[in-house]
Amino acid sequence: MSVFEAPDYDGHEQVVFVNEPAAGLRAIIAIHNTNQGPALGGCRIWPYASEAEAVRDVLRLARGMTYKAAMAKVKLGGGKSVIIADPYTQKTPELLHAMGRWIDGLNERYITGEDIGTNPMDMAEIKRETRCVSCLREEDGGYGDPAPMTALGVLQAIGAGVERAFGKTDLNGVHVALQGVGNVGFNLCRLLSEAGARLTVGDVLADNAERAVAAFGAEAVEADAIYDVEAEVFAPCAMGSVLNDDTVGRLKAKVVAGAANNQLAEDRHGDALAERGIVYLPDYVANGGGLICCEAEWY
Ligand code: NAD
Repeated sequence: MSVFEAPDYDGHEQVVFVNEPAAGLRAIIAIHNTNQGPALGGCRIWPYASEAEAVRDVLRLARGMTYKAAMAKVKLGGGKSVIIADPYTQKTPELLHAMGRWIDGLNERYITGEDIGTNPMDMAEIKRETRCVSCLREEDGGYGDPAPMTALGVLQAIGAGVERAFGKTDLNGVHVALQGVGNVGFNLCRLLSEAGARLTVGDVLADNAERAVAAFGAEAVEADAIYDVEAEVFAPCAMGSVLNDDTVGRLKAKVVAGAANNQLAEDRHGDALAERGIVYLPDYVANGGGLICCEAEWY
């Protein structure tokens, strides 16, 4: 497969393929653009079904980070890394140390951070081999988990969307259908609940959805039913590509704003939302709060 000819290749400056069998490491680091500063973006650990799937993900995520940094006006560029492994069974200190050494070899062109499959403790392991790491806990010299700041940014985006769609300047009584009660999703549920919003949540892990039911009186639905909820706002906070041919037509919400990266399966799905009169807050604007936090930590 040629990277330069891949559909998601968009002038990326550098794409590094890493193979270190002794550490169980197979990874790709993509640096999209460093015009505004070093490329910052998290390290995702995921058992991709194929190398092509991993390449597609890392190229799209890295470009999204460039957009996010530009919109947030931070002195950073866009990059991302993926490790092809199962985070529950294959994540070892040796694997993280090896990744740190490869990142260090890039001479501060790429700074890593947490993403799906990694957490601030993993960043402390990577830090043993490189200073090019963010999202560290306070005891490790960082600003802590960026997820609460990401959630705060998404809350602002939802507020802006609701004002645009309904002319309403607060979220009291607004019904939000939230997909994915993970790290960001749970924090967002708390903020929405404090603002008086009504919550319906869906998660593939029923226990995660139940956390929002117990803490905030949310209603839980089956994960796939979240698209059909009669809500004013749909907040995708799980995986990418959730706005696609199957889902856009099902949405009842008039506002879409959430934390997930790369929500549009293809650019044309943004047009499809507009045709349906749905206000879409681009993910790379709505979810920039965590990156702003990481910039402060890095500099
Ligand atoms: P997380 O892994 O803590 O939470 C994700 C949640 O989504 C989990 O509860 C998971 O069970 C659920 N989920 C997975 N697939 C699902 C599906 N098909 N339907 C419903 N639920 C599903 O991750 P997070 O840190 O909360 O991040 C959420 C999203 O926001 C990711 O796309 C991430 O890339 C993006 N993001 C996160 C941050 C941050 O600060 N953590 C910043 C910017 C963007």
